[in-house]
Amino acid sequence: MMLLSTHNLTRRYAGLVAVDAVRLEIPEGGIHAVIGPNGAGKTTLFNLLTGIVPPSEGGIVFDGQDIAALPAHRRAALGMARTFQNIRLFSSMSVLENVLTGLHPRLSVGPLATVLRLDRFRAEEREAVASAKAALAMVGLAMEENAPADALSYGDQRRLEIARALVAAPRLLLLDEPAAGMNPAETAALADLVRRIAVGGTTVLLVEHDMGFVMELSETITVLNFGRKIFAGTPEQVRAEPAVVEAYLGARLAAKLRAQAEAQHGQ
Ligand code: ATP
Repeated sequence: MMLLSTHNLTRRYAGLVAVDAVRLEIPEGGIHAVIGPNGAGKTTLFNLLTGIVPPSEGGIVFDGQDIAALPAHRRAALGMARTFQNIRLFSSMSVLENVLTGLHPRLSVGPLATVLRLDRFRAEEREAVASAKAALAMVGLAMEENAPADALSYGDQRRLEIARALVAAPRLLLLDEPAAGMNPAETAALADLVRRIAVGGTTVLLVEHDMGFVMELSETITVLNFGRKIFAGTPEQVRAEPAVVEAYLGARLAAKLRAQAEAQHGQ
């Protein structure tokens, strides 16, 4: 069975179809990727899957349930977690506190119990801190738990975001360009972390421009171009597919022509 699937998933903006009738199929377990040239619709697809933007058309089924109409926090409670392309941390809060914010959709006690500090709240708080510490250990930040988030290096801030996404033990983790801005050593450590997450039983879906990273890690790759799915297959199949090569070369050529036109315009 598929853990996540979409049919006819479409998102229109004025005069533009950012995601165009996409049928996505992500099996349970392992690491999967969505790739495509700039503007292909990858981030919009993630925003549709996680409930940040509503679809114009189409359905999304997660773990057998139609979730297309559910708000983001309900999807999170069902076991979906994500990181963003741009780091979104609470910079002056501690590393541990940042991870604890990832548990919000899962906490069961209401605000009254929190205010009264009832026993059940205290027990839940203890468990929450234990889960947060385990998530920090998983990403290699156990020693940093009391540091303010903005004291961490760029690579460590990205790992902290992953810890925050992992703390609620999601079934599906969506990573939006996790390797962006990382140096080769950080990227290698990230690849190792993503593998360990998948081995731990969380299915991973990533959007990433670093092709080496994608090809090395992914079991399946879905390729988008101009909002449409143009291919899906294994890394070997994707590498050998002329339509994929053409989409990338076409995008590169278009960028080159644009740069030339701008240079001429500037003269
Ligand atoms: P990149 O690799 O550059 O991050 P992407 O594949 O993630 O690109 P999207 O960011 O999903 O692509 O954008 C797809 C298309 O939809 C682009 O043409 C973009 O300009 C457009 N788009 C995205 N969000 C909006 C919005 N809120 N309003 C209007 N157009 C949008």
